[in-house]
Amino acid sequence: MPKDKFSFSKINTFNNCREQYYINYILNIRKPNENIEAFLGSCVHEVIEFLYQEKKSEINFDKIIDLFDKIWKKKWHNDIYLIDKRRKVYQYYNLGVECLRNFFRKNIQNNPNFFSNTTDCELSVEFEIEGINFRGIIDRLDFDSDKNQYIINDYKTSKRIISNKKAMRDLQLGLYLIAIHKKYKPTNPVNLRWYFLRYGVEILVQPKLDDQNYIKQKLIQKAKSIIDYSNKNESFYANETILCNWCHYWEECRAKTSKNPARRI
Ligand code: SF4
Repeated sequence: MPKDKFSFSKINTFNNCREQYYINYILNIRKPNENIEAFLGSCVHEVIEFLYQEKKSEINFDKIIDLFDKIWKKKWHNDIYLIDKRRKVYQYYNLGVECLRNFFRKNIQNNPNFFSNTTDCELSVEFEIEGINFRGIIDRLDFDSDKNQYIINDYKTSKRIISNKKAMRDLQLGLYLIAIHKKYKPTNPVNLRWYFLRYGVEILVQPKLDDQNYIKQKLIQKAKSIIDYSNKNESFYANETILCNWCHYWEECRAKTSKNPARRI
C-alpha cells in the first residue's frame, strides 16, 4: 500500500474536525461542491498564474479583467454554494476584480519585468522526513539572482491577514520552505511572501533556523499523531464549530441530521 502523503490541508482538516478527516481521507468521499469563496479564489489564482506563465510585459488591467471574466465563466459549475445569504454572486465577482486591481497596481503596473524572477508557478513539491512523506503546491517560486535568494509566494483572497510573528512559523508556507531547502539547498535564507489580495497587503518574512526547526518538528508531530490515531482505530469524533457552515459533508457527518442549509447557486 502506498504511504500516506501529508499536505497542509490534510493536517488542517484533522485539526479542525476529525469527522471531516474521516469522511475525506479514510472513506475517501469527495464531492464536486465548492463554496463561492473558494471558487472566487481559484479564478483569481488562475489569472495570476497565467500572467506569470505568459510573461507578457505589455499586459494592462482591462486585459486582466477580460481574462478573469473568461475564467469565471469557463470554470462556473452547478455545485457552487453561497453560505452568507445576505450576499449576492456579483459581489464575489466584484471582489475578484478588486483583488486583481490591487495586485496589478502593486506588482505589474509600471513594472514590465514583473515576471523576471519567477522560476515556477503551481510548483508541486514532495519530501520525506523521518519516514513521513509531505507534499504541497507552491503558488509561485521566485529566485532573485542578484541576492542569490528564493522567495516563496502565496496568494490569499481570504479576509484574515497573518501577523508577522505567526508568519515566521506558519505551517503551510513552512512546509513549502522545507521542500525548497530539500530540493535546492539554498545558501541564503529563503523568504516567504503572502499577498492578501483584498487589501493589497503583502507580508514578507524570513524564518530563522529555530523557526525552521519548530516548523519541521510541528509537521512531524502532527503527521505522527494522525498516523497513530488512524492505526489505533480511534473514533473520529465531530467537532461542530462555525466552520461547519462551509462543510459539504453534513449528509455523511454523524453529528448532523440535515443537509447544509447553504444555497446552491
Ligand atoms: S459538518 Fe461540522 S462536525 Fe460535521 S464533518 Fe463537517 S465540519 Fe465536522
